[in-house]
Parts: sequence; C-alpha cells; structure tokens
Amino acid sequence: MPNLDGQHFDALVIGAGMSGLAAAIRLAHFGKKTLLVERHNAIGGLNGFYFLGGRKYDVGLHAMTNFVPAGTKNAPLTKLLRQLRIRYDELDLCPQKQSAIHAFGNQIRFSNDFSLLESEIARAFPQQIDGFRKLDALLSGYNETALDAADDSARACVSKFISDPLLVDTLFIPLSFYGSSLPDDMALPQFAIMWRSIFREGFARPHIGVRQITRTLQRKLRESGAVVQMKCGVKKIRTDGKRAVAVELDNGTVVTADKILSSAGSSETLRLCEGVAADYGSDNIGQLAFCETITQLDAAPEKDFGWNETIIFFNDAERFCYRNPETLIDARSGVICIPNNYAWSRPEEAPQEGCLRVTCLANYARWKALGHASEAYAQAKRDSFEQLQTVARKHLPAVDDSVFRKAICATDMFTPLTIERFTGKLGGAIYGATQKTRAGTTPFDNLFLCGTDQGFLGITGAILSGISMANLHMLA
Ligand SMILES: Cc1cc2nc3c(=O)[nH]c(=O)nc-3n(C[C@H](O)[C@H](O)[C@H](O)COP(=O)(O)OP(=O)(O)OC[C@H]3O[C@@H](n4cnc5c(N)ncnc54)[C@H](O)[C@@H]3O)c2cc1C
Repeated sequence: MPNLDGQHFDALVIGAGMSGLAAAIRLAHFGKKTLLVERHNAIGGLNGFYFLGGRKYDVGLHAMTNFVPAGTKNAPLTKLLRQLRIRYDELDLCPQKQSAIHAFGNQIRFSNDFSLLESEIARAFPQQIDGFRKLDALLSGYNETALDAADDSARACVSKFISDPLLVDTLFIPLSFYGSSLPDDMALPQFAIMWRSIFREGFARPHIGVRQITRTLQRKLRESGAVVQMKCGVKKIRTDGKRAVAVELDNGTVVTADKILSSAGSSETLRLCEGVAADYGSDNIGQLAFCETITQLDAAPEKDFGWNETIIFFNDAERFCYRNPETLIDARSGVICIPNNYAWSRPEEAPQEGCLRVTCLANYARWKALGHASEAYAQAKRDSFEQLQTVARKHLPAVDDSVFRKAICATDMFTPLTIERFTGKLGGAIYGATQKTRAGTTPFDNLFLCGTDQGFLGITGAILSGISMANLHMLA
C-alpha cells in the first residue's frame, strides 16, 4: 500500500465503482493529482465480478444499455468513450439478439432496432399506436441530461399520450427495473434517459462480461497516473465550516484534497462528515431493493432448451407494482436474463456454460431481520431461489423438470444484504436515494457527489455521471 499519510491531492475520489473510476481517469488526464480510495478489494462496485467455486461471476451485468454502432454521433456511449480516450473496439461489445416484455397476456418483443417495438405496440395495442409515437417524439427530443430538469411525474406524462393503463404499465416494467429509485413512478428526465437507453438504443454485452469494462478502466487509470488505494475506505471527512478539510481512511491515514468527489451515495457520504448527524438523510434512503438468482447450466439455453430471448421483463399481477414488497420477495414481476443470447462476434469463444439470471423486488428490512449469518437467512435464500426459478421458467419454453435440474452445475443468489455488505449502499438499494442530487452539490463547498445518487444509473449512466461531475466541479 502506498504511504499516503499527510499527502495533499488536487482531487480525491471516493469509491472505485463505474462512476468513481471514470471520474478519477478524467481528472488525472487533465493533470490533477488524483487519489481514488475504495473500501472493497475489487473495483467495479455494483458492477464488479467475483470468483466462486472456480467460476467467474459478474455481480450485476445483464446488459450494458445505450448500445450504438461505432461512429454514432451524439450518443452517450460514444461520448463517454471519447471523454475517457477509450477506443470503441476496446469494449468488445456484442449486441443483444432480442428481448421481450411479458405482461397482461401479451408478449411484446423488442431489439436494438426501435421499429420492432413500434410494430409490436401497433399489433398488441392498435388504438394506442398514435399516442405511443407522439410520446416517443417527445422523449426523443427531451434534454434528459439537463441538470436543472424538473422531476415531473413520468406516469402523468405518459398517461397524457397513452390512455390504456396496461400499456403504460407495460412500458414502465423494463424502465423501472433497469433504473428507477422511485416506487410506482419515475422522474420524467430519468424516464427519458431510460427510454433512450433501452428502447431507442438498446442492449449489448462485452464478450467476456463486465471484466472487459473494469479491465479497460483499470488500464486507463494506471496510465493516467492517478494514485489508487484499495481495501481501505474513507472513515471520516473532517470539516471546517462549509469546507471538507481532510479525509481519514480506515487505516488511520489522513490526507487532504482541494476537492472531493464521492460515489458512496448522498446520505452515506454526508454521514461520513464531521458535524453531520449519524442519521442524516434517513428520509431519503432508497426503498427499492432486489434479489437475484444465478443458475449455471451444463446446457446451451437456446440450442438445448429453445430459450432464445436475451432478456424477458415479466409481470404476472393484474397491475405492475414497483414498490417495496410486504414479503421477502415479490416474484410477481421481475427480469429474466440469459447472457448466452448475445450475438457473439467470435462464436467459438462464446461461454461454454448456460446461464439464467432472475431478478425481482425484495424487502430489505425483512432480510435484515433474519440476520446475515442465520440458518433462517440461508433457508429464506433457498426458498426464494426455488420460487423465482419456478416463476421464471413459466415465461420460458417448457423444459422437463428433471432435465433442467440435471443440467444445473452451480448456483448463487444475492439479497439486499449482499449489496449492503459489499458496496455500503444503505438499505441495499441498488438505485440509491429516492431524491437525486442532479447538480452533485452538497452542503460543503468542495465536496461533490457522482454516480447513483447524482442520478445517472446503470453502467453507462454511472460512467457519464463520473465524467460530467468531474468536468463540472473539478475541471471547470
Ligand atoms: C445485481 C445488479 C444488476 C445490475 N445490472 C445492471 C445491468 O445489467 N446494466 C447496467 O447498466 N447496470 C446494472 N446494474 C446497476 C449498475 O451496476 C450501477 O448503477 C452502477 O454500477 C453504479 O455505479 P456507481 O459508481 O454509481 O456506484 P457503486 O458501484 O456503488 O460504486 C461505489 C463504490 O464506492 C465504494 N464505497 C462506498 N463507501 C465507501 C467509503 N466510505 N470509502 C471508500 N469506498 C467506498 C463501494 O465499495 C463501491 O465500490 C446492476 C446492479 C446490480 C447490483
């Protein structure tokens, strides 16, 4: 570990998730003496990877959103690559094949070609297609990244164009699961971001998964000259009036910096500050948490089972409820991802094992009450795993149960407690606080926020957040 005690930096970045990595690279590229501090032993945060039983697992990757072909102008993906000086081919992206929304008796297919979604809406909701097109025109012209955009209700806006509440729900299912911290609604700017990310642009996956992204960012970070301190978090931020004057790390090291940019979350960051109440922001902790199951299969999902979609968003309830469930999990709606179903640029190097990931809403407090190390927690995980897998398989072409079970070669599952433990997110809330801080400012003049709680979510969003907050507050 570098001996940092007493050192001064131009910029200190807290957290080596996607946003912190991007911010540190950007700052160091512009000659700022930069320190990046991460509590965990691995980079990537909510989108890192880990080893278990000899296998490499992505923590969270279903899809990288905002896929566009190389050279596309004015697109978030090409913009972030340019700002971090990364070549398009370095991400080694493979586009999705085709995804679907299963809800209210319909199966609405969509892909990275928007016209498929448009034709599917025209088929399933013929009376609504004009409104759908007008809504798309509004959202496509919307300046969704404006930091002062009003947080109007997206549901209210969508309902002005679409009179069938079941189509409104249908459109909200993927956009909520992939990027909403608000129960049963979204802020309009966030809805517009997700509309573009998922429907207008679409999904891709680096050939080897998220490691391709973290590896690329790690190399850029090394080349940039930023100093990196892993396995040692920020314990305390010392303050004087309206300034953050020094940072104390877990190992007692004290460093100073002109400016600090934190990706740890808004309440999480402010609770580190001297003079701030220990329960600061308790009314702004995200209420939405998730469970995810991962099933590794000794079978090819498409060839052996006929499972050919990349991602299926499903809802089996009468209406789509996107809110903190009463029970440990709410398996009435969720996401099924089959990472094998991307269009591999090198099919001979495609993953050998099949993989099925299933996600649904979960209640953090109920999991917390079981206690992480208890047998009750382990049993609840087993029960929830079985429940989610059963629900998911109803949305996939039928496979004989004994054939399916025989093909299972490994499983894993995370709960909201896993997220809390590995990333420090309060309430295990992947999408962070309910109210975002778009401008990235805090009550302290030289302490800023980036990442999830600034408001840009997902891999692409978090990277853009790190870049834009570094540009705005540290490089302007
Ligand atoms: C299961 C799951 C599935 C997902 N699927 C997708 C997907 O398919 N596509 C997609 O685009 N996005 C997905 N996401 C969301 C995406 O991963 C996140 O939105 C994004 O990675 C957030 O990045 P971030 O930098 O804002 O925050 P984080 O990744 O949370 O990074 C913050 C970092 O700060 C560190 N930290 C916290 N406190 C301290 C401290 N005091 N000192 C030092 N370090 C600290 C944490 O350890 C962490 O590494 C998924 C997330 C999960 C969990």
